Amino acid sequence: MAIRQIITAPDPFLKRVSKPVAEVTDDLRVLMDDLLETMYDAPGIGLAAIQVGEPVEAIVLDIARDEDDPYPRYFVNPEITWASEELATYEEGCLSVPEFTADVDRPAEIKLNFLDYDGNKQEIHADGLLATCIQHEIDHLRGILFIDHLSAVKRNIIVRKLVKASKQAAE
Ligand SMILES: [Zn+2]
Repeated sequence: MAIRQIITAPDPFLKRVSKPVAEVTDDLRVLMDDLLETMYDAPGIGLAAIQVGEPVEAIVLDIARDEDDPYPRYFVNPEITWASEELATYEEGCLSVPEFTADVDRPAEIKLNFLDYDGNKQEIHADGLLATCIQHEIDHLRGILFIDHLSAVKRNIIVRKLVKASKQAAE
């Protein structure tokens, strides 16, 4: 396993649309292992392959609390098949948008089809933080960041600060 560099906004690479994978291969499992290690190291609770420069439909998540055992989850080619009309609001952050958080509304419950780490087809019904995290990560596969759900004014303020911070880091 290896820790990979996380791409941060406003890098245009994050706007790319990820491609579904034909099958879960050993190479993809190596990528998912790297994603998980990179996510734990950051630390974060979710990471999509595009965030480390691989535009394929693979996501890792672990929303276990600090006092609980790690519970890594892997989602390949995730597809939301149903979403509730009821919305839930969570304060979201993102490893690609460091040091900013904002409230985002999303469907409170979803049903999801995906392939697991072993390539088996799975279907789950998710709610709460899990539903929000899965939707946040699937957005990444479509080239969407959580700040894209905010008003243009709020988004521009955050993007300007990110640009300024990255210029200062480069100096
Ligand atoms: Zn994110």
